[in-house]
Amino acid sequence: MRLKGYIENRTRLFNRDSEFSCPHWCNRLGCKDERLHVSVSIVDLVAASLVTGQMASHLFRSHYKIGASPMNENPWIQRFVLELKKPCPFLSGMDCGIYGRRPIACALFPEAFFLFPGQKGGLNKGKFGHYPCLREPLVISEKRRSHLIELMEISRRETFLTEFYLFGFSPFSVDLRNTVMDVMEVSRDISGSIGDDESHYEVPHEAFEEILIRRLGSGGYLSKIDSKVDGLNSPSGIEVFYKIMEWTDSVAPSDKDFPYCYEFDERDRLKLIKRPT
Ligand code: SF4
Repeated sequence: MRLKGYIENRTRLFNRDSEFSCPHWCNRLGCKDERLHVSVSIVDLVAASLVTGQMASHLFRSHYKIGASPMNENPWIQRFVLELKKPCPFLSGMDCGIYGRRPIACALFPEAFFLFPGQKGGLNKGKFGHYPCLREPLVISEKRRSHLIELMEISRRETFLTEFYLFGFSPFSVDLRNTVMDVMEVSRDISGSIGDDESHYEVPHEAFEEILIRRLGSGGYLSKIDSKVDGLNSPSGIEVFYKIMEWTDSVAPSDKDFPYCYEFDERDRLKLIKRPT
């Protein structure tokens, strides 16, 4: 199986020239903390399926979820990603049950946050500052840095592939402004905890995900996603997936400036629109 060879090659980079290991006194916070989202690719899913012997579709339903992550510049625009459920179902005591085939995101953590001198990374240290591995800056060797950068590039291509395979479009982001009534229903009044005589509301992250999943289900998309994942249970389906990967690898652009996103119409069908600026 060609995908197996690809997985073996990328896995060789996971620990190469790394001096990092999880502190033994860490309670595996990153694997348990629901606020730390671990995005994964379909390749990560197939790798876990091969190493555990469980069907990809079974793992997909039991260990992963479709999560929403806000695009930085606009909280109303959420990007769909495949994520591990938290606490991670692969964690067994203090050990990762799929360590040799763990997702790229896990292999990058926490070194990717210390790639460049002075880098604070994309991690909100306020929320995660109690992680033992984040208290002191890590020193990353030049050799290790080059492997991490290569892994990040592989991850970027696999993210493009995953969105394209599951949703038919990448980057797959949705403008939620026309679901404002759903959002208001689940928002929490937090004015009391701020105490400045103004009204403040907070929308729990999982509420965004529930809205998105409900709308995707109602629009008929979830069953299509399920049947695509079912295709990964057979060697022929994985070969089809590999061919798609060959194609997306050749076209995967930088998605930073991609000017389109979707919105749900009144029947919860997705409609491509110009992304608001
Ligand atoms: S896959 Fe392994 S390293 Fe990654 S979050 Fe789960 S238990 Fe932790």
